[in-house]
Amino acid sequence: MPSNTEQIKEKLDIVDIISSYIKVEKAGINFKARCPFHNEKTPSFLISPTRQTFYCFGCGEKGDIFSFVEKFEGLDFKGALESLANRAGVELKNFKREDTERSDKKSRMYEIMETATNTFQKYLEQNQANLKYLEKRGLSKNSIDLWRIGFAKDEWRSLCDEMLAKGFSREEMLKVGLIKKIDGEEKYYDTFRNRIMFPIFDIAGRVIAFSGRSLREDEKTPKYLNSPETKLFYKSEVLYGLNVAKNYIRKLDYTVLVEGQMDLLMSHQSGVLNTVASSGTALTEQHLKKLQKLSNRVIIAYDSDSAGEKAAHRAAELALSSDMEVKIVTLPTNEDPASVAKEDPEKWKTALKESKHFIDYILEKTIKENSGKNLAKAIMKEVLPFVHLISSEMEKTQCVKKIALKTKVREDDVWNDLKRIPQLNSTETKESIKNINLNEVSLERIIIGLIFSEEFNNKKSTLKEKWQKIIGKEEIERRLENYAENKEALIFEAEMHLMGGDIKKTEEEIIRRVELEYLKNKLQEIAITLDNQNISKEEEKRAKLDFKNIEEKIKKLTINLIK
Ligand SMILES: [Zn+2]
Repeated sequence: MPSNTEQIKEKLDIVDIISSYIKVEKAGINFKARCPFHNEKTPSFLISPTRQTFYCFGCGEKGDIFSFVEKFEGLDFKGALESLANRAGVELKNFKREDTERSDKKSRMYEIMETATNTFQKYLEQNQANLKYLEKRGLSKNSIDLWRIGFAKDEWRSLCDEMLAKGFSREEMLKVGLIKKIDGEEKYYDTFRNRIMFPIFDIAGRVIAFSGRSLREDEKTPKYLNSPETKLFYKSEVLYGLNVAKNYIRKLDYTVLVEGQMDLLMSHQSGVLNTVASSGTALTEQHLKKLQKLSNRVIIAYDSDSAGEKAAHRAAELALSSDMEVKIVTLPTNEDPASVAKEDPEKWKTALKESKHFIDYILEKTIKENSGKNLAKAIMKEVLPFVHLISSEMEKTQCVKKIALKTKVREDDVWNDLKRIPQLNSTETKESIKNINLNEVSLERIIIGLIFSEEFNNKKSTLKEKWQKIIGKEEIERRLENYAENKEALIFEAEMHLMGGDIKKTEEEIIRRVELEYLKNKLQEIAITLDNQNISKEEEKRAKLDFKNIEEKIKKLTINLIK
């Protein structure tokens, strides 16, 4: 009986799986893409349909469908296994040893969160007043069910007791942040009390945390309370709604980014399904990395108050420095996406349609706010720092032209001002990307890659035999051993290099070149021997003969190469 992983691998093709997440194009016998695991402009991420593997020359990420889904979706092995089993239509049997080896202990934590979510949902069902409250805020019953919104009772231990009865221990509940312990005592109480509970999902739709909105309107109680960071929940990485929005972001090729949960819920309810929320924390680079895997374009729609505006500018700054295309929505004073969408979903959609490129927006705003004052100075302070973040020279030029036109300043002067903008994030040097130029790959790497590839296909390696005749068996084994760690990379390198060519012919040429290189080295060695003062007459004679022979051979090989 084949294992779960074997069965799934048999049914799914790595190219299909990966191309359901990112854009993939044919490259010889392989496929290539822009790596989803590091930031790059030219594709160095390769997929092999024959070996069912992927490899990135930029960041070294490699593996099979399971590692890809694990990494891309941010899942553990079991999560990836379930997701792929689902797609393959394979029913998961008891985990075989090889499966469990890759699985980890998070599954129990997910189970607790799932049970807690069900419990909170049940409490809400039993509480008509709170259901009415949510409906008054604009949420449909459908949205409440879809987003699994619940209620935490105004009691100290209702959740804890119910979970204990279901077989979960206090330690387990502590680990996921559902209960708290009183210092120095063996006393526990529920973290969330008298709050509307919004489950926070990971990209695969599993509950990893909660955000609870207080139903008490006093000033002492924080309005929103989030789960603490746990092994499942890293605030700076989670985007609320991404589990639903991911497919739409990919399809529509842009993200709508809002701040709060209600903004997200109302936006989705209006049919804008590519919306995500940073929810309770400031936007981070990790958030943007997740979005960039799906699309490089983002529309920022934050509250229209001054705090919202500030946060929006900060988000735009981050997105621009990540080379994203950034637009921004302007909402009427004292409105937020939730209130606009609640009033009229069409009004919300229109606001999105009318979103402006961030630079245009900030330029117009600065001009409007500084009429009659020192505009050049304001532009320098408010606009140019953002232009400075744009890495594309073409885009930058367009911005400069626009600024010059709108402010009636000479383009050269704008450029000069731009050059004076101090490096905003001078401490954060951008991760340097090692891009291998495949044309510079050494012959040795190619020949070893080809040998690995032949070995993979269980072919008898003729290349190895030929090479062996030149440099000897021991030497070959030593070199193969050296490269064993990078097998996958070398195979891809060789395949890229030979792309479109006649493999047999190329192999012959490679062997000839390798021999040539070898002979030239030999020649050098002999020259060094001959230089040695202490050499005997006998030795000198033999060395000179060798030298002549090798020179002959090289001449022959070179003529062949030219032909
Ligand atoms: Zn990469």
